[in-house]
Amino acid sequence: MRGAVLYGPKDIRFEERDTPRIVKPTDAIIRISATCVCGSDLWPYRGIQPITQPTPMGHEYCGIVEEVGSEVTRVKPGQFVIGSFFASDNTCPNCHAGYQTSCRHREFVGDAQAPFLRVPLADGTLVTTPEVPSEDMIPSLLTVSDVMGTGWFAADAANVKPGKTVVVVGDGAVGLLGVLSAKRMGAGRIIAMSRHETRQKLAREFGADDIVIERGNEGVARIKELTDGIGADSVLECVGTQESMMQAIRSTRPGGYIGYVGVPHGVELNGEKLFFSHVHLHGGPAPVRRYLPELIDLVWNGKINPGKVFDLKLPLDQVAEGYRAMDERRAIKSLLRP
Ligand SMILES: [Zn+2]
Repeated sequence: MRGAVLYGPKDIRFEERDTPRIVKPTDAIIRISATCVCGSDLWPYRGIQPITQPTPMGHEYCGIVEEVGSEVTRVKPGQFVIGSFFASDNTCPNCHAGYQTSCRHREFVGDAQAPFLRVPLADGTLVTTPEVPSEDMIPSLLTVSDVMGTGWFAADAANVKPGKTVVVVGDGAVGLLGVLSAKRMGAGRIIAMSRHETRQKLAREFGADDIVIERGNEGVARIKELTDGIGADSVLECVGTQESMMQAIRSTRPGGYIGYVGVPHGVELNGEKLFFSHVHLHGGPAPVRRYLPELIDLVWNGKINPGKVFDLKLPLDQVAEGYRAMDERRAIKSLLRP
């Protein structure tokens, strides 16, 4: 088969790779129905997170089970399944606590931009849909594999509750789905920070009430202005830079909550500033597995349509254009179909 391999900055190739096969009896092989490019794929693509060797790419996936190992009992060939970017046993103490991305046996699933994928710990990792979905539902189901699950975790970690005021820092796909999540959780007012017209439009469609285009000191001042000088109850940090993290901390009211899901790159927090900010910080790699049943159900019943973040749809062999378009911010998120 052919799949996506990153060779270095801006050098993604679609080339021959070994077709995955069952390695452990707990594995499953799935035939990918759809995959996509993640905002976090852009860190190595841009060379900010250096790679040392040609690296297969892709960690968002859904598809049909092709084959299972001898110890797999919960999923069967022919079923449509969705999993997270970390395989988890879903039985260890960390999984039971709802932090499957810290599973004691976790394995990164990192080569999904291909027609076939090996998923370790299949019983713990994969969740089935009620039946094989219609074509039009596949983009939304794909999002729950990571981007929607991550936006949902950001809102959950930021303690979004009915009536609360929410700020979302970052207008990438995760930030936009953070808006959708906050709306679904009953937020009273949602303020999205975005400078891009198409993203502002989608943020409003997903439930944002206000848009703030300013950043830094002006951004903080604008949030304070909109929140009676106090700051927001809940802030979703969906970027992962020093600037965005400080934006989040400074936009939160004393006693408020920050859910941070942008993978930090060069973020350093000043202990004294953090101490006097009086905020709750909770984040990390989203335990998507915890939310899969609930989010699949919401998509399946037409309650949410997160697939709208895909504004570019390409055949898998054009994966390089999928990366380029996101890197140049011509696309919010690129969907790839084998
Ligand atoms: Zn576990």
